[in-house]
Amino acid sequence: MSRDPRLPAWLTKPLGDPASISEVRAVLAAHRLNTVCDEAKCPNRAECFGRGTATFMILGDRCTRNCGFCSVASATPADPDPSEPDSVAAAAADLGLEFVVVTSVTRDDLPDGGASHFARTVGAIRSALPRAGVEVLVPDFGGDRRAVDTVLAAGPDVFGHNVETVARLYPVARAGADYRRSLDVLAHAAASGSARVKSAIMLGLGETNTEIETTLSDLAAAGVEIVYLGQYLRPSPSHLPVERFVPPEEFEAWGSRCEGMGFAWASAGPFVRSSYEADRAFARVGERSVDRGEQRA
Ligand code: SF4
Repeated sequence: MSRDPRLPAWLTKPLGDPASISEVRAVLAAHRLNTVCDEAKCPNRAECFGRGTATFMILGDRCTRNCGFCSVASATPADPDPSEPDSVAAAAADLGLEFVVVTSVTRDDLPDGGASHFARTVGAIRSALPRAGVEVLVPDFGGDRRAVDTVLAAGPDVFGHNVETVARLYPVARAGADYRRSLDVLAHAAASGSARVKSAIMLGLGETNTEIETTLSDLAAAGVEIVYLGQYLRPSPSHLPVERFVPPEEFEAWGSRCEGMGFAWASAGPFVRSSYEADRAFARVGERSVDRGEQRA
């Protein structure tokens, strides 16, 4: 396994507010919930927990796939917890969230890929927090458009599905996934007109600038309105190595490039993750603007 290049100075984060972090952790523990923040070893945890927010990860903490970049455990999952939708809603209420982001592991073992569980979770959040915005970040459901429709019918404000990387790198980075299938999921959701559609890609896995450009064009053509670009960080030595740490100014250039490509909002920076400041992106999505201020964190 090759070694990563030395961690550059720009990839350091300030510590978050300890009291807020403890409070978020206590709420999550009380409701026995998982977050992608912890499962994916996100570098923004101190900041996001310090702001009193987190991204819920439903349908268990074991994934039926084994992506080369992802630290979520790959194993046979347990049956979905029928009380989980209400637990997510209760935790979101306890945290006082005005914008709730929900993602999941991939559940290829379930007939609908977990879509109905997503829908119930959105419904429970709507009941508990009728004024809150809701964003879902879903797996590809094996390309099952009915599963996508099931989630959309629950009425999320934002429908997210990450293509994660460029098409060429799918065999090494996203075994079991298919670039075109992910684009179809996004295009189908966009065609429904019922939610803002969002996607994200990681840089630093060995993609070329031409491939990034092509991916962004594909996302725009699919009807994606919100796009995020962030730096891939290797969660452990057994995961794919970082090929390159992309400097902040290159992210800034990609943010600029997104202007004029049809995106309503783009966020690009080393620490940008698809759920990073998701509330902010949704609040601003009506403005045709590109965020290049992610370094403020
Ligand atoms: S960026 Fe997203 S996954 Fe990371 S800590 Fe913040 S809410 Fe969690």
